[in-house]
Amino acid sequence: ATDGQKPSLKVILCSPRGFCAGVVRAIDSVERALALYGAPVYVRHEIVHNRYVVESLKAKGAIFVEELGEIPDTDAPVVFSAHGVPKAVPDDAKSRNFLTFDATCPLVTKVHREAEIHFRRGKEILLIGHAGHPEVVGTLGQLPEGSITLIQTIEDARRYEPKDADNLAYVTQTTLSIDDTAEIADVLRERFPAITIPHKEDICYATTNRQEAVKKVAPLVEAMIVVGAPNSSNSQRLKEVAERSGSKFAALVQRADDIDWAKFGSITSLGVTAGASAPEVLVEEVLDAFAERYHLMVETVAAAEEDVFFPLPRALRPPQAAE
Ligand code: SF4
Repeated sequence: ATDGQKPSLKVILCSPRGFCAGVVRAIDSVERALALYGAPVYVRHEIVHNRYVVESLKAKGAIFVEELGEIPDTDAPVVFSAHGVPKAVPDDAKSRNFLTFDATCPLVTKVHREAEIHFRRGKEILLIGHAGHPEVVGTLGQLPEGSITLIQTIEDARRYEPKDADNLAYVTQTTLSIDDTAEIADVLRERFPAITIPHKEDICYATTNRQEAVKKVAPLVEAMIVVGAPNSSNSQRLKEVAERSGSKFAALVQRADDIDWAKFGSITSLGVTAGASAPEVLVEEVLDAFAERYHLMVETVAAAEEDVFFPLPRALRPPQAAE
């Protein structure tokens, strides 16, 4: 069919979308370790939650493991993923004399440090987040077991019984829903007015800006596609935000193959975004798949400008950048 015979589809690209500074830094850390030391480079956990990224790095010689116990005794470098690790992991790596590079996003490390400071001040600490997510496992693992209580829902916040309501503090996961977290925080603040709150939001700039862009675009479109992985917290939140903000339906897809054409085959407008760990090449792949079926009219709606950059871990910086 020629373009003229295809139905038209208005496509609104959300801006910003896709890679954040923490993800770029994490991927570059693995690439740089491969360039400096050669293959293999071990990576604990998916460096970022994206299969395409993981497969590309595997092809270059990265070996992904879930725990250090899977790594044989080796001189090869070991990189920790962007999500952060419990304290026990670097300790274990040290005892095995591994050469390690920490690709934990600096904005996750900031939350770790906050929790530590609260702990040193003798505070009772709450962490708003999702059980089992590696970032949450990493943050809980900064302090002795039982020092932090996980609050997952508004119900948890309503039910929580502190030992001393005047000595409480909370921190959060970086990739949560802005609105859900605000509701949970409101309950905590109402119940415990003396609670210490984060100085600067723990939910990161990238999560915030991607959700804000979806909020702007969702009311303007029939359907929304979020390019991202099912285990990516910030991508899942983008899908929820789209559903709540006015698009009739939203889908999280890893690649063009995942698009359900029974749903997306007869729409007139589409919003497109991508989670912080999804590369732009996958957004292009998705757009190409729509372009096979529709005549696309593409525009962009922006919610924020981003110019955040995190330098590589010092030992991985190229000589000219190492100071
Ligand atoms: Fe860092 Fe936010 Fe990106 Fe996570 S989503 S890696 S916290 S910038």
